[in-house]
Amino acid sequence: MFKTKSVCLSLMLAALVPLAGCGGEQVKPAEVLRVSGQTMGTFYQLTVPADYKGGKEQLEKDARAQFQTVIDAISTFDKGSEISRFNQRDSTEPMQISTYLAHVIEEVNRQALRIGGATEISIQPLVNLWGFGPDGRPVKVPSAEEIAAARQYVGMDKYAVRYIGGSAFLEKKDPRVQLDLSTVGEGLGVDLLAQLLDEKKVENYLVSIAGAIRSRGLNPEGKPWRVGIVNPVDPDGQPFAVVCPQQEAMSTSGSYRNYFTDDNGRRYSHIIDPKSGQPISHHTVSVTVIGRNALMTDALDTGLMVLGADEALAWGDAHETAVYTIEMQDGKPVGRHNRYFEKYLKCTAPSGR
Ligand code: ADP
Ligand code: MG
Repeated sequence: MFKTKSVCLSLMLAALVPLAGCGGEQVKPAEVLRVSGQTMGTFYQLTVPADYKGGKEQLEKDARAQFQTVIDAISTFDKGSEISRFNQRDSTEPMQISTYLAHVIEEVNRQALRIGGATEISIQPLVNLWGFGPDGRPVKVPSAEEIAAARQYVGMDKYAVRYIGGSAFLEKKDPRVQLDLSTVGEGLGVDLLAQLLDEKKVENYLVSIAGAIRSRGLNPEGKPWRVGIVNPVDPDGQPFAVVCPQQEAMSTSGSYRNYFTDDNGRRYSHIIDPKSGQPISHHTVSVTVIGRNALMTDALDTGLMVLGADEALAWGDAHETAVYTIEMQDGKPVGRHNRYFEKYLKCTAPSGR
């Protein structure tokens, strides 16, 4: 495990924590703008150079416009979003959707297929059944019959994206099929923020929404941006590991914040194994993935959580992908990473700096 004692913190409710500089640096820190707030039921944080055109107000406005694009497409809490309208439909007729949503569905499924379908966006009927959906909180463990009934509408073959005359359409094979893209909401948000900042030629930034981050360039002290992976047994304390995902996206899926406990004290996570219809119950509590964009890493981290640490690390090795896991062993969190993650734990500046 990476030692984090000397790290200065700016904490928030997330699986990842952007880390502020610690002062005492030789280099005069650059002036920066920091904007933070709430979106999609969680928290976001942006750090960009102070010369952002229009200043803090404009940055916040620009960020909110990007978040709204994601919310309009995939929010299950907003009943007017594209996905909510699709879920409420009592028809198998194709529904016209934005090319943005079509692309998101296709890309998540492309990633999901790489990990054997462990990320499954038609999971919504099971998510609702277990009480993690937009309409309720978990109250009871469903029966085997209820789980089997919900599983009938879960699977990549239960819906399809089609293109007709340049327009995108989404259709379900049964009116009871419902999609849940909430697991990639954070990743989509930071990808759109990064795209916006890249278009504006902003050379140094760190953007994060809960468990997903994107960065570019260097931090205000001229050093690599550092991000903390949250300690699952002390989410508001010191980070469990410090990572420098230079120029790349990183996201973490964790099972330690959103769960319910039954009368016997057994914990049920909000992450559900589509094969069994059951919430995951193994000892892996956090999986972090680094990759070229946050839609990809956010689609992978959830499924790799379903598979558990051993399989997640082996999959990362086989697919040249950086993976970091945390498992509970004898009540203590234990971190492991694969060889592709190694370089991100060494927070050295890029050569020539
Ligand atoms: P985390 O809290 O670890 O960041 P997310 O919030 O990104 O996780 O995703 C968890 C949500 O994804 C659940 O609340 C549920 O709506 C949905 N979900 C649960 N299991 C799966 C799965 N196997 N594949 C896709 N989505 C899932
Ligand atoms: Mg995810």
